[in-house]
Amino acid sequence: MTRAALNILTVTLLLSRCCDANRKLLVFLIDGFRYDYIDDLQNLAGFREIVENGVKVDYMTPDFPSLSYPNYYSLMTGRYCEVHQMTGNFMWDKDTMKEFLIGTNPDSRLPMWWDGSEPLWVTMQKLGKRVYMYYWPGCEVTILGVRPTFCEEYVYNPSEKNLTDSMESALNMLKSDKADMAGIYYEKIDVEGHHFGPRSPEIQRAIRSLDQAFQILHQKIKEKNMRDDINVVLFSDHGMTELKWMEKVIELDKYIDMSHIVKMMDRGPVVSVWPKQDKFEEIYRNLSSVDNMNVYKKQEIPHRFHYKNGRFVSTLTLVAEPGWFITENKAKLPFWNNGTEKAVGWQHGWHGYDNEFMDMRGFFLAQGPDFKTNFRAGPIRTVDVYNVLCKALGIEPLPNNGSWSRVECMLRSSAGAVRAALIYSFLLLLLLLPH
Ligand SMILES: [Zn+2]
Repeated sequence: MTRAALNILTVTLLLSRCCDANRKLLVFLIDGFRYDYIDDLQNLAGFREIVENGVKVDYMTPDFPSLSYPNYYSLMTGRYCEVHQMTGNFMWDKDTMKEFLIGTNPDSRLPMWWDGSEPLWVTMQKLGKRVYMYYWPGCEVTILGVRPTFCEEYVYNPSEKNLTDSMESALNMLKSDKADMAGIYYEKIDVEGHHFGPRSPEIQRAIRSLDQAFQILHQKIKEKNMRDDINVVLFSDHGMTELKWMEKVIELDKYIDMSHIVKMMDRGPVVSVWPKQDKFEEIYRNLSSVDNMNVYKKQEIPHRFHYKNGRFVSTLTLVAEPGWFITENKAKLPFWNNGTEKAVGWQHGWHGYDNEFMDMRGFFLAQGPDFKTNFRAGPIRTVDVYNVLCKALGIEPLPNNGSWSRVECMLRSSAGAVRAALIYSFLLLLLLLPH
């Protein structure tokens, strides 16, 4: 083979790869953004631009429980909760008696909660690549001995200015090769969904102002001339459903003697309970008779939840029917306050229910040189996202529970790229051959 032919072959092979390892990735984790919030794109120019220039899936089914921390980790590891071990926003380890609590709590940074699986940003750092993360819960934690290159620590409900400042910083870091991947977390959609419900004017307003931030993002990407060099992926951890307080609260102290409970974690759709050993069967029996709620012994939890084998899963797990809320006693809820609408932090929306419940579904959008344009993909699951991100970054995914066949369709066809590259090479070869 001549040297020219060899060069052409190399070029062909390079061109035929789907995803360029040098291409940058910008990821947005939008907490509590339900799949149907963008059903009507008429007044959402920022989202519309992504849908028209990229990929939209019908919906994304979260992992069980449909809560934040479990799904943050499923998204970044591609593994089910019982595999990566982050099984709740509130967890308890009976051996060490330590608690994991949502938000800022020193014990929540202990390696035991996080080291169950390796998240994507840790893999990237291990490969010598650089990851910048903004407000992303967990970026402040040393996981398997590794931290991202940069972490703007999580604060409650980052502002719109925090969001647009993060975008500017992330794009500059990606453009100047200081970062290979950047991740930005935004919480406001979840916060407004809880406070006012998923159908409220407040949630509409929050979606519109997020849309304006994405219009700014498109503008910045164009100004910085980055359109051919950056893939942008947006997704949520779960959806949101309406909560009707007055009639749908399950108060556990009406059915069981709470002094027989060693530990109870969380309240709402999923509650973890560890009864005293000698009272276990009695507590189980009494809770089994409660309407609008299921109680499971650990090994009886449905297999489809991919939850029961988690290290921190309690001996009894209570799962409410959609719209119902489990607690010890509603008077003890900080936001109950006699049930007056004026109570601080009054809640009209919640999530955490059976992950197949429609309202729990999240969204997924992607655009950039590695994604098809104006492409509508079928439903995917939270665990599928990891493989897409790895592909866009040009890195080998670790073993995971995602299904490649559900996401392959959204990437630019590598078969098409091979064909184009072969035709190009053939024509070049014709020109170079001695006549
Ligand atoms: Zn939430």
